[in-house]
Amino acid sequence: ATAAPALPPVPAIELDGVVKEYVARGETVQAVRGVSLSIAEGEFFSLLGPSGCGKTTTMRMIAGFEEPTRGGVRLHGQDVTGVPPNKRDVNMVFQSYALFPHMDVWENVAFGLRRKKVPEAEIRRRVGEMLEIVDLTGREKRRPREMSGGQQQRVALARALVNNPRALLLDEPLGALDLKLRQAMQIELKRIQREVGITFVYVTHDQSEALTMSDRIAVMNDGLVEQLAGPREIYERPATAFVAGFIGTSNLLNGAVERIAGGFAVLPLGEHGRVLVEAAGHSPGDAVAVTVRPEKITISTEEPAGDVSAVRGTVSEVVYLGTYNSYAVKLGDVAEMTVFQQNAHDSTTTAERGDSVWLSWQPQHSYAIGS
Ligand code: ATP
Repeated sequence: ATAAPALPPVPAIELDGVVKEYVARGETVQAVRGVSLSIAEGEFFSLLGPSGCGKTTTMRMIAGFEEPTRGGVRLHGQDVTGVPPNKRDVNMVFQSYALFPHMDVWENVAFGLRRKKVPEAEIRRRVGEMLEIVDLTGREKRRPREMSGGQQQRVALARALVNNPRALLLDEPLGALDLKLRQAMQIELKRIQREVGITFVYVTHDQSEALTMSDRIAVMNDGLVEQLAGPREIYERPATAFVAGFIGTSNLLNGAVERIAGGFAVLPLGEHGRVLVEAAGHSPGDAVAVTVRPEKITISTEEPAGDVSAVRGTVSEVVYLGTYNSYAVKLGDVAEMTVFQQNAHDSTTTAERGDSVWLSWQPQHSYAIGS
C-alpha cells in the first residue's frame, strides 16, 4: 500500500487580507490596512510595532472583540466570522492582569473551571498542576495585593492556561513591570510556553522582548506588516528602512550601483569610500539603500584591503558604555555612522574625537533594502 501524502498541518491562526476601519467623528480611520499571516500551532508569535500601528486591533480581531471590516479570520481552519470571544478556542491575558482582589491565588485560577462546573477533583488536579508550571506552588492562599507584579502576572497566566485554550493571546502582559522583572519574566514566559506547548500570540512595542521570546515576529507599521520572519533575520536582514530603524540601531547609506565585480555590486561614495553588497538582484545604475549594524563594523586608521565595504570619516563622538564603546563617525554630508566596539579586557581606545578613521565590514553584513 502507498502511504497517503501527508497533509500540511492546519495553522492555528490565519488572517486573510484583514482590514479594520473605525469611524471617529465622521472620519474613517484604517487601524489595520490589509494584514495576511499564518501562525503555526505551538508557535510563539509576536506582533511588534510602535504605538498606533494596529497590533492591538489585530489581536482583538483574533480574540473576537472586534470584527474585521473586510477579510477573514480562521482559527484552526475554521472561519470564525461572527463567533463571540467566549466561543473561540483562545484566551487573552491583559496587561492589567484583571485578577479578583478578594480571592486568593487558588480561587483566582480555579474560577473559570468552577463556572464550567468541572468536578472538584479535576479542578484540584488542574489548578495544582498549573500553579506548579508558573512556579507559584506554596502561594495558594495569597491575595493578589500581597504579591509582586511578576507573581500577579503569573497568576493571570495560570488562570488563562488552566482552561486549556488552544491559543493564548497576550497584549503587552509585562508592560507594568520594571526592567529587571520584565527580563526575568520574558525567560519565564518562554519556558512556560514551551512546557504547555500551545500557540502564543504576543503584542509588544518592545523589540528586545520580541527578539528574546519569539519564534517569528510580524513587524507592523501604520496598519501593515512590514516584515515577517524569525528574530535573527529581522535583526540581521531588515526588509525595510522602517524595520532597520525600529529594531536595534542601524546605519543607513544611500548610493547607486556603479558596477558588478567579483560577485559584488559596488556603490562608490566618492571621497568617502565604497560599499559592497552581494550582487544578486542589482544592476548598474540602481539606487540602493544599504543597512549595516553598528557591531559589524571595524574601526581602523589604515585603509582596509580586500573585498570589504570601506568608508572614511571623522570621529565626532565617543561614548564609553561599559562592555563596549559607541562611536559616531561623520562621513561629511553623506551620513553619520554609529559603530560599537567591544571593550576587551586589554583593549585600549582605538579612536578619539576628531580622528580620521576607516570603517569596514564584510559585504554579507549589509543589505540593500526597500523603502
Ligand atoms: P498601542 O501600542 O498604543 O496600543 P497599537 O499598535 O496597539 O497601539 P491600535 O490600538 O491597534 O494600535 O490602534 C491602531 C489605530 O487605530 C490607532 O490610530 C488608533 O487611534 C485607532 N483606533 C483603535 N481603536 C479605535 C476605536 N475604537 N475607534 C477609533 N479609532 C481607533
